[in-house]
Order: sequence, then C-alpha cells, then structure tokens
Amino acid sequence: MKLKIGLIGLGIMGKPMAKNLLKAGHELVVYDVVEAPLRELEKLGAKIGRSSKAVAEQSDLVITMLPDSPDVEKAALGSQGVFEGIKSGSTYIDMSTISPVTSKKLAEAGKAKNLKILDAPVSGGEKGAIEASLTIMVGGPKAVFDECLPLFQVLGKNIVYCGGVGAGQVVKACNQILVAGVLESAGEALVLGAKAGVDPQIVFKVIASGWAMRVLDARVPLLLKRDFKPGFKTRLHYKDLSIALSAGSEYGVSLPVTSLIREMMGAMKVAGRGDFDHSGIITVLEDLAKFEVKA
Ligand code: NAD
Repeated sequence: MKLKIGLIGLGIMGKPMAKNLLKAGHELVVYDVVEAPLRELEKLGAKIGRSSKAVAEQSDLVITMLPDSPDVEKAALGSQGVFEGIKSGSTYIDMSTISPVTSKKLAEAGKAKNLKILDAPVSGGEKGAIEASLTIMVGGPKAVFDECLPLFQVLGKNIVYCGGVGAGQVVKACNQILVAGVLESAGEALVLGAKAGVDPQIVFKVIASGWAMRVLDARVPLLLKRDFKPGFKTRLHYKDLSIALSAGSEYGVSLPVTSLIREMMGAMKVAGRGDFDHSGIITVLEDLAKFEVKA
C-alpha cells in the first residue's frame, strides 16, 4: 500500500531513508532545520513541509529521525510540532535513538489523539540506511508493529519486535553497550599489542578470527540457562588479565576496562565462583543490580 509519509530529520540516516521511501513509491513530505537536504529531496519528488506541524498535517504516518531526546520532544510536542498537526488515529514512529523514558512520554501524550505510536531505533549506520539493510528494534503495540512491518521492510532487513512502548530503545541501549565495549576492548588490545612491538594487523587478524568473535553465540544461550559449567574457568581468565595488566604496566599502556574486568573476576573468586565459566561475570553485575537474568 502506498502511503503519505512525513519524515522529519534528514541527516546522515534520515536522508537515505527518505530516498528509499520515495524509491518504494510512497508520497513523502519532509522537514529539516537545514535547507540543503530539503532541496535535494524535493528534486527527487518529495514535498517540503515548513515545520513539523506542517509535515504532520499532510501525512498519514509521521517518522522522526533526529539526534537526541530533547530534539524529538521539541519536534513532536513543541510549538509547531507533530502533535499539533497530526490527524487523530494516525501513526507516529520515532526512529531516532533516544531515552525510553521520552518514548513513554510521547506514547502517553499521543493518547489524547488516539495515535498509534512506535519507538523504532535502528542500527547499521549510514551504509545500512543507504542499502536499506538496517536492523530495526521496535517497541509499542504489537498490532501497530504488524501494520507497519511492510514500511520497515523498505528501510531495513532485520526487523525485531522487542515488546511494549520503549522496548525498542531499551534494546538499542543494550546494543550500544556491547558495541562500545567491543571497540574499547579492541582498542586496549591494539594499543598494548602495538606498543609492545607486535604488528597491529597481526593482532587484529588473530582477535577477529578468534574466540572473542564467537563467544556470544557460544556462551550466552548457556548463561541464560544458568549453566556456568566451565569451558574456561574464571580464575584462569583472571590470571590472563593479570598478565595483560602487568604487560601494560611494563610497556606503559593503561588498560582501564581490562583492569575493571579483572577486579570483577577477582570478586568472583572471593565469592567462590572462580571455577564458574568466565561468562559467569554476569553474576557480579546481577549482585549489584539485585536481579537475576533468566531466559
Ligand atoms: P544527524 O545529526 O546527521 O541528523 C539529524 C538531522 O536532524 C539533521 O539534519 C538536523 O538538522 C535535523 N534536526 C535537528 N533538530 C531538528 C528539528 N527540531 N526539526 C527538524 N530537523 C531537525 O544524525 P544521524 O546520524 O542521522 O542520526 C539520527 C539518529 O539516528 C540519532 O538518534 C542517532 O543516534 C541514530 N543513529 C545514527 C547512526 C549513524 O551511524 N549515523 C546509526 C544508528 C542510529
């Protein structure tokens, strides 16, 4: 079905997403506070709205793709915002990465107009937006998700319903924790390796084809069953991180995250969990959160 879609925010992600919506034959009304992307999309057949409100007035479904929570709040709830123009009963999808608390606030505010609201942050970067191969993590009513699935399929490949309002943003936050952790730890490994005189290409080749890249698939399903029978004992990983840290001190390389993880593994030893598989590090976090993760 061809829709009249409003898209607000034509930055690195929003602009290629807009192009994919046009390519799929949808009518598009766009708005950004910057003029250049508006002109570019006008040439491709989009209409320009002069405010978020004007976009919403001309659309059956509105998407925002803005930097942060305050930007979305302003564009949606502020003066000349989406909620002033949107028709009762229509759909509003925020695809920005924002706080789930803000997503809940939007859903609450939408009740007055009986809006169908989803939070649908993405991952996959500019390349994924251009190639329409984004991962899209969706929160909100399941029936609204089902209705919008064909639209998400124009923008992405891996489309996952995560749960109620805000669940998409929660999953995106979880994803960002992992991405940041992997990059930081890769950084620690590369600085230590290179400063200690090993070619960083070789370090990369080994770590990229090694256990680090497979450990999630191998261990998380077991961890979710509370199976901490060791493949690799925590006390041995503690010993290995101690080796890395003393090499770091030898070569003048600070390894802040490695040092934190070693301390957590040390706490596991003290708690009698030194023979747990190293994936049991989650139990230290669970102790802090007074919460146990189960499938
Ligand atoms: P960006 O800064 O390139 O684009 C944001 C656009 O919003 C800009 O064109 C800006 O002018 C416009 N804008 C800001 N306030 C506005 C307002 N009130 N009304 C209308 N337009 C307004 O950011 P981006 O990289 O496209 O990211 C958008 C969202 O997607 C962010 O939440 C980001 O975290 C998320 N994201 C980005 C990437 C990435 O690789 N770039 C990947 C995944 C998710």
